[in-house]
Amino acid sequence: MAEFLGATVAIAPNDPEHLGFLQAAGGGRFVLQRCAECSKLRYPVGNACPFCTALGWEWAEVSGRGTIYSYEVVMHPIHPSFRDQVPYAIVLVELDEQRGVPTEHDGLRVLSMLVDAEDRPESMERVAIGLRVEAAFTPLGDGLALPRFRLSDEPPEHAPWSLKG
Ligand SMILES: [Zn+2]
Repeated sequence: MAEFLGATVAIAPNDPEHLGFLQAAGGGRFVLQRCAECSKLRYPVGNACPFCTALGWEWAEVSGRGTIYSYEVVMHPIHPSFRDQVPYAIVLVELDEQRGVPTEHDGLRVLSMLVDAEDRPESMERVAIGLRVEAAFTPLGDGLALPRFRLSDEPPEHAPWSLKG
C-alpha cells in the first residue's frame, strides 16, 4: 500500500493519469502530459488539454529543473500526518521546458514541496523566489514516488527574493 507521511495514498481505478505520474516518479522519471494535438506540455495532470481541449496525450519526460517562480509557507498542518513537517514551503516552480508558451508571461509551472537532502522540509531561511531547483523523488511504496523539489547548486536565475519576518 502506498503511503505518504503515514497516510494512505489512494488512487482511483479510473485515474490512470495520476497513477502514471507517480509510477514514472517511482522509476526516477519526472513526466508530464504532452497534448497529441497541439504538442504542449501541461500541469496539473488531467484528462483534457487546457490549451486546445483535445483528449489525446502521451507522457513526456522533463528535466525536473527549474526556477522558483513563487512560494507559500504552510504554518498549520492540513492533516495530522503533516504535524511534524510545518513550517514547510510549497513552491511554484517554472520548469526549464516550454518557457514563454503560450505567451511571454506563461511557463510550465509545477507545485510541490521544497525539501532538503534528507527529504525533510527545507529551512524557511533558504527559500526564495529566483533560486534554481531540481526534482527529488520521495518513495511512497508500491513502486510509486512523489516528485518534490530541492535546491540545486546552480546560481540563482535573478536576485533572490523572499518574504522575511
Ligand atoms: Zn492541446
